Amino acid sequence: MSKLMNTYARLPVSFVKGQGALLQDTEGKSYLDAVSGIAVCSLGHAHPAIAEAICEQSQTLLHTSNLYQIDKQQQLAEKLCDLSGMEQVFFCNSGAEANEASIKIARKYANQKGIKHPKIIVMENSFHGRTLATLSATGNPKVHEGFYPLVEGFERVPFDNIGAVEALEQDSDIVAILVEPVQGEGGVHVPQAGYLKTLREICDRNDWLLMIDEIQTGIGRTGKWFAYQHDDIIPDVLSLAKALGNGMPIGATLAAKKATDILVPGNHGTTFGGNLLACSAAAAVINTLEVHNYIEHVAQKGEQLLQDFIEAFTDIDAVVNIRGKGYMIGIQLNQPCGELVSQALEKGVLINVTRGDTIRLLPPFVMTQEQTQQLITVVSQLVKDFTQTN
Ligand SMILES: *Cc1c(COP(=O)(O)O)cnc(C)c1O
Repeated sequence: MSKLMNTYARLPVSFVKGQGALLQDTEGKSYLDAVSGIAVCSLGHAHPAIAEAICEQSQTLLHTSNLYQIDKQQQLAEKLCDLSGMEQVFFCNSGAEANEASIKIARKYANQKGIKHPKIIVMENSFHGRTLATLSATGNPKVHEGFYPLVEGFERVPFDNIGAVEALEQDSDIVAILVEPVQGEGGVHVPQAGYLKTLREICDRNDWLLMIDEIQTGIGRTGKWFAYQHDDIIPDVLSLAKALGNGMPIGATLAAKKATDILVPGNHGTTFGGNLLACSAAAAVINTLEVHNYIEHVAQKGEQLLQDFIEAFTDIDAVVNIRGKGYMIGIQLNQPCGELVSQALEKGVLINVTRGDTIRLLPPFVMTQEQTQQLITVVSQLVKDFTQTN
């Protein structure tokens, strides 16, 4: 019997090493990884530049404390602000923590405005994490179940629906909108172009904070450093995690304009957040993405990948929708298809199925042309066989 708490229904496979887009299991079998540890290892496995940064830092100094100056943290904050247009950064260790800080900024912002019972607009079908506040913000009843009472102060509206947000403009308790630019866990839902731009305008005219959760979409995944850059806006609050450390745990909450200087000493903190090791890894990730123009590569190849899948599935009626942006692709079937994950595993390809009926692909940016072809061939064949026998 496993001594692990039973929080995951795990597949019967264990990986011992990796290289680029490939993983190897305990039996020596090789797999093409089109999940990247859920949008984490964008630079693939065992990337030499990241390994070197981690190795060097671990031989120098791992951790001091946020009681002291940490130059590496300062430098990383400056770099992230340059890339994002944001102004201040709080570093933490995970996505849920990054969103917790966003939510606390909204609460404190409300407090400064004298609003006693503030509300944050959140979306149906969203995912923001598993802590009490972030699971309460999440728009999935399965995530709430068993954990009532939820944290109050969230007002839910349908995603990609401007009218539903406008209908709340009269509510003087609203202080912020929290939204994913592309819903990841929710099934790779890409909103209409200009959705975030319109939300930006609504926030501006109501003095609300626009808080964008880029934990899955950020750091190049959609073909821009941050997905809101497709809409040419800057949020007030931005949360990051997943790909920021390529596997080294690190998250960040960034603030701009009216969201800056809201948190002051005593308001928030973290023991590990932004330590030297995590910051060294993240700096190496950003540098590697820049030096090799990986994000432009994702923008171009992502478009191609989506087209190739659309083509591969033209006469398969069971495939009802194919959507995506960059290296984030969802293939929705007209039926539950969770068993495709183990069928793909058998064929040596790691895929994910979310929301029961949607294949989600989050391949690493370093995937080769040949591996891309293998992914298209294996996934399209599996789906064809599956939908013909079901
Ligand atoms: C993964 C994810 C989170 C939670 O991140 P953790 O590191 O698992 O806490 C929050 N928001 C989005 C959009 C995510 O994809």
